[in-house]
Amino acid sequence: MPVSPVPPAGTRSPRYYASIDFDALWREFPPAPHFFQSTWMLSPDELRALQNERFLRQMQRAWQVPFYQRHWGAHGLEVGDIRSLDDLSAIPPFSVHDLREGMNANPPWMDYIGIDPAADEPVPLILQTSGGTTGLPRPMIFTPRDREVMNIITGRRLYMQGVRPFDLIQVALSMGLTNGGVLAREGIWKYTGAVPVMTGSGAQTPTRRQIEILKAWKVKFLVGFPAYVRHMGLVARDELNIDPRSLGVRGLIVHLGTEDRASLEALWGADVFDTYGCNECGTMAAECHHKSGMHVFEDAFILEVNDPDTLKPKPVGEKGVAVVTTLFKHAAPMIRYNMNDVTALAPGECACGSRHKRITAIYGRSDNMVKLRGVNVFPEAIGSVVSQDARTTGEYVCLLDADAGGRDEMTVQVEVLQAGGERAAVEQNLAVRLKEALGVSIKVEAVERGAVAKFTGLTETSKIKRLIDRRQSRSPR
Ligand SMILES: [Zn+2]
Repeated sequence: MPVSPVPPAGTRSPRYYASIDFDALWREFPPAPHFFQSTWMLSPDELRALQNERFLRQMQRAWQVPFYQRHWGAHGLEVGDIRSLDDLSAIPPFSVHDLREGMNANPPWMDYIGIDPAADEPVPLILQTSGGTTGLPRPMIFTPRDREVMNIITGRRLYMQGVRPFDLIQVALSMGLTNGGVLAREGIWKYTGAVPVMTGSGAQTPTRRQIEILKAWKVKFLVGFPAYVRHMGLVARDELNIDPRSLGVRGLIVHLGTEDRASLEALWGADVFDTYGCNECGTMAAECHHKSGMHVFEDAFILEVNDPDTLKPKPVGEKGVAVVTTLFKHAAPMIRYNMNDVTALAPGECACGSRHKRITAIYGRSDNMVKLRGVNVFPEAIGSVVSQDARTTGEYVCLLDADAGGRDEMTVQVEVLQAGGERAAVEQNLAVRLKEALGVSIKVEAVERGAVAKFTGLTETSKIKRLIDRRQSRSPR
């Protein structure tokens, strides 16, 4: 059949740059460096007023999204119930489990996205997904404006951490279905003037080649998961005889969690900057150069720290779960999204002068927590203890089993740098330190370097596993 050179009437292709009023966007969400002389320095009252206005607009949009009509309708919430930000706590939160329920309608146009390809005006869209451990990954769709706001925030965060034009930034995150690498590239390229070097995970660019590139091209910043950044440093030092401190890397941009900052900074001779973000929203909070907790970008997000059971706000300094509300999203607005990430609000004011509130750290995922003989244990907290022991590579995996009597037992396999005699000492010392830190006995097994990668996927994937649940009665994680 011959192909017609002219498309049928009524067919149009939407244009990316025509779909956004950039001047208006940049006034509303100032990119760096302008942001730091404007929104960044607002007083708490001014910030609250700005949030209130954006929140009400975000609510109008959310009421058009079928997921919220269903979720809020089931809880009896009505449009008139929410008149200002003061009513935020009246909105029923949701978690990833609620999103999954909407998965089967018409994939990938999930009911939480609120875009109907059969009825809506065409607009250029991007699809990225969650990490997805079982079954199909969870799709997320972004409109041009949603994406630009996320990119502006990436640019602000990097500027704050010292990135300047013509710096080379190596991004050791995969460019695939998940958002991490793709989003980093967009933000760096569009809003910093620095140049992204997309080496990806160890499966895409072998670790030794990553180091050769970093050295040859004089990379200034390294973005990646802390475990992989540590692995890179150790491979450079112990296998290539290159002292990572000699490479001139100034900053390591990671989701630090509870990994040990001091040993990572010492290994590379570089500052570690902690960052918090997610697939649905991009970067939500990041440390300034004072490293006194991660400032939330409050012109784009409301971040609550709430009790995991009652979802009531936790006092400053007390741990709770992060509940996020976006103030800018058209596709899949997030209104009181319970991230299940455990964190706390940081007390006092930061020396940088910004009043944007801060969170201390992400201590773990509340749904990754294991109850071991009555004690709550985060695998991440175990990693923190392990990475402080210089005899280890910092690599570990937690194996959860049930003994013959049905009692839960955890064994932590830890990689040691030196083979032989040190193993028994490492096992003993770490068992004592873990008991002190966690309040429960955990068996420690020292294994050779590289041995836990088969469980964690360290050199293959960005989604590193730290907990393997081998109890018969439980479904696999
Ligand atoms: Zn600060």
